[in-house]
Amino acid sequence: MNQDPSPLSILPDDLAPLVRARVPLSDLTTLKVGGPARWVCRVTTPQEAVRFHAWVTEAGLPVYILGAGSNVLAPDAGYAGAVFRVDTASFTVRGNRVSVGAGLAFDTIVARCLDAGLVGLEFASGLPGTLGGAVMGNAGCYGHEIGEFVRRATIMTPDGRIEEIDGGQFGFAYRVTALRETGAVLLDVVLELATGDVDRARATRRERIADRRAKHPVDLPCAGSWFRNLEPAGPGQRRRAAGRLLEEAGAKDMREGDARVFARHANIIVNAGRATSAQISRLADRMRAAVRERFGIELQEEVRRMAQRERE
Ligand SMILES: Cc1cc2nc3c(=O)[nH]c(=O)nc-3n(C[C@H](O)[C@H](O)[C@H](O)COP(=O)(O)OP(=O)(O)OC[C@H]3O[C@@H](n4cnc5c(N)ncnc54)[C@H](O)[C@@H]3O)c2cc1C
Repeated sequence: MNQDPSPLSILPDDLAPLVRARVPLSDLTTLKVGGPARWVCRVTTPQEAVRFHAWVTEAGLPVYILGAGSNVLAPDAGYAGAVFRVDTASFTVRGNRVSVGAGLAFDTIVARCLDAGLVGLEFASGLPGTLGGAVMGNAGCYGHEIGEFVRRATIMTPDGRIEEIDGGQFGFAYRVTALRETGAVLLDVVLELATGDVDRARATRRERIADRRAKHPVDLPCAGSWFRNLEPAGPGQRRRAAGRLLEEAGAKDMREGDARVFARHANIIVNAGRATSAQISRLADRMRAAVRERFGIELQEEVRRMAQRERE
């Protein structure tokens, strides 16, 4: 392990333009909170991922993987390691299969697939974030999940090897994958879609976007739903909405400084100005405690809390 106080001294020259120092995490996350990340590495190809991995390993830096930061709470103290920002952006259509860089914005992919005559993803129109974040968290809405469409992927393993894997190796479950917990970096994804009624799919897309605008904060920073919905009470039943329990437990009146519960949705925390990460965290803890006290149910967080030093 290198003891040099400046990891920059061992950074290959050609990687230097892809690295920034002391970047506020508030600029990299949709909640707009968080102190500086010591280093942020923009990863645009699998080869760069491997070379950045070699660099952080030699420099002894912990790594956090980030897409668009739309499902992450970053700490006020920042991150004392390297943030890998996945920015792979390829897009190739072959028949019903689309090979896509994990760094592309998910909504851009929905639109481009429709332009290519492929339907299926329109249910997730308007979903913030990258494809990588969506696949690693098995994002979903309106009765579908991204995992349904994933056939193959290119990842970097935690020990820095590039591997091709099948969709089945992700371990897709409700809003989670087993793969995310290993620390693998998702770089490229092959999705399988269908040819179908593109006009109808475009109409669905417009409806979903309008629905999101009506239900979600449009001008206040947030990270989507804070808590997961509950397991169905029985076979054939739907998941129970965490938002309903939170509302009945009085969450809508809660706030911690500028961290507030969104007036139209009790499962969303907004940053109404100058909220800190600590305030948001306290508010989420109070919301969970209120549901525990009222219903004896322990809500699970969907938003990821980024630790100051961690390898995910
Ligand atoms: C207004 C709003 C509405 C939302 N609505 C929904 C919704 O309807 N359904 C839903 O499921 N989510 C929703 N979300 C949450 C969020 O948009 C999704 O979880 C999104 O898919 C996250 O993508 P991201 O690129 O922002 O990931 P990030 O927030 O950057 O990362 C999320 C997690 O994935 C990991 N990760 C990200 N990219 C990679 C990669 N390439 N390789 C390995 N790990 C990676 C990170 O380490 C982190 O653990 C919403 C968020 C907002 C702000």
